Amino acid sequence: QVELPRPRQRRVFAVANQKGGVGKTTTTVNIGVALALSGLNVLVIDLDPQGNASTALGIDRTSGTPSSYDVLIGELSAAEAIQTCPDAPRLGCIPATIDLAGAEIELVGMEERETRLRQAIDAIPAEYDYVLIDCPPSLGLLTVNAMTATDEVLIPIQCEYYALEGLGQLLTNIGLVQQHLNPTLNVSTILLTMYDARTKLADQVAHEVRSHFGDKVLRATIPRSVKVSEAPGFGQSVLTYDPGSRGAMSYLDAAKEIAERGTREIV
Ligand code: ADP
Ligand code: MG
Repeated sequence: QVELPRPRQRRVFAVANQKGGVGKTTTTVNIGVALALSGLNVLVIDLDPQGNASTALGIDRTSGTPSSYDVLIGELSAAEAIQTCPDAPRLGCIPATIDLAGAEIELVGMEERETRLRQAIDAIPAEYDYVLIDCPPSLGLLTVNAMTATDEVLIPIQCEYYALEGLGQLLTNIGLVQQHLNPTLNVSTILLTMYDARTKLADQVAHEVRSHFGDKVLRATIPRSVKVSEAPGFGQSVLTYDPGSRGAMSYLDAAKEIAERGTREIV
């Protein structure tokens, strides 16, 4: 396994797209593991009440486990809620428990409701090079918290029909967060997922996304692959479930590109 370069300063990503099923969780998990297996210290924060990222990483998320909910409401510090992933000792995870399902509504009545996660992340131990936040499929307060806490948004786009539907709304919301809450927020990275080379459609979507977003789009694309979809059922990333598979290789390539970009100046 190659070592990837450490960023000059910690990079925090919100992995977001209000469409469900586009590969947010799969991307968070596999990029997280890829970076961690390459010598970097990574923290995944599961901000989706479904808790799929926690499950895929083999992390306990039974009710009562210290979780992202406790961190958001200020009950625990981020450090107190971190568990270590069995797959990768350099990978920590703050899981989502069922409590998070009510947070979207509870937060409405709270002070500093948009900046709670940012405050928590500011206090994360210095050893973490990357923080990846898996957002729920909505543009509500949880996603707003993620976008307020990060500098970079990573948008996974599924190479399927309607791939670009809703993207305009996502970009508008990112613009609003930029204006009102977080001026340094930036869509730094777009990843094409579930790419099926046999279909013309996948090529068309990829071409359209690349012509619109230019070099924000990673060169690596993630193929549609059964191994990728099987791995979470074993509490594993595809990198440990089947290291030689195309899915594993493509997530490693994507992680490498992300890490190499991180050593450049981000404008
Ligand atoms: P989201 O978090 O955006 O809702 P997920 O990452 O959970 O999306 O992916 C949705 C479904 O598609 C899951 O069942 C997942 O296992 C599957 N999936 C994701 N990426 C791939 C891929 N590259 N190939 C095959 N199945 C995939
Ligand atoms: Mg998800």
